[in-house]
Amino acid sequence: MGETLIEVKNLKKYFTVKSSVFSRNEQIVKAVDDVSFSIKKGETFGLVGESGCGKSTLGRTVTRLYEPTAGEVRFEGVDITKLGSKEMQVYRKKMQMIFQDPYSSLNPYMNVEEIISEPLDIHMKLSKREKQERIEEILEKVGLKKDALEKFPHEFSGGQRQRIGIARALSVQPEFVLADEAISALDVSIQAQVINLLEDLQDEMGLTYLFVAHDLSMVRHISDRIGVMYLGKIVEISPSRELYKNPLHPYTKALLSAIPIPDPARAKEAVYEPITGELPSPLDLPSGCRFRTRCPFATAKCAEVEPEMKEVDKDHFVACHLYEE
Ligand code: SF4
Repeated sequence: MGETLIEVKNLKKYFTVKSSVFSRNEQIVKAVDDVSFSIKKGETFGLVGESGCGKSTLGRTVTRLYEPTAGEVRFEGVDITKLGSKEMQVYRKKMQMIFQDPYSSLNPYMNVEEIISEPLDIHMKLSKREKQERIEEILEKVGLKKDALEKFPHEFSGGQRQRIGIARALSVQPEFVLADEAISALDVSIQAQVINLLEDLQDEMGLTYLFVAHDLSMVRHISDRIGVMYLGKIVEISPSRELYKNPLHPYTKALLSAIPIPDPARAKEAVYEPITGELPSPLDLPSGCRFRTRCPFATAKCAEVEPEMKEVDKDHFVACHLYEE
């Protein structure tokens, strides 16, 4: 891991919503608000936060499924937010996605062969024989048998359907994969299998992942680094191991308190307070630090000044006034 594959700079994604069905007044939801981070080639960057924190919107804006409101997304140095649809086509092949619900993201009227063929037809000009070989090869890679090709999504279990989703995404040999809550809908035992599969495929194909999940236990094993997101902002970025050993932001600590500890002796040692209160409305964001309405350490300064992201240890960044000199 060395070179940067993706660099996100000051990215914003705002949505305009009506304040009520009968109202003409419009309000702005700042779903992603001035977010910067980068992902190295071959790295897995985990992105976590409660639902509604903007992590899926961030992933979808990075891949231009959503058009950004402002900011840059550089892919191998090229700012893809400025590209027209024709120039963007090259990057659409390089950036693929795996979604949460493999059932709703797979067309129920297509069999597996047609599902995997679709991106190949769009992005790669292959002969009939090459396409067939490619489909069979990727099917084997994701651990499905050749007889799956004739079957339809409803004939598979949730874990197998996610394997089909992975096969479709990887069939065009992407460089970068956005896994958006890709394992959240699966049973715990199946989650581990899918994570192992994603790790094996990463090694084999040299893939880079942005792995979006709503709890830290899910991203723990797969991520090299983790970004913690709260109400449209990344509040902490750290190497994965360091984040679990030495979390800094009060929100990260609260998220860690929600992870069950199987060993009762160690569970007693758990020092982190669980998060309290509701996530504030994105239409009415708190002033200063957005976490201040739920933070046990909030001071007057936290209501007035928005904390900036600072590197407090090697590769460990946090946005919190507690860590300013
Ligand atoms: Fe809490 Fe203040 Fe830090 Fe925000 S800046 S997390 S309110 S201590």
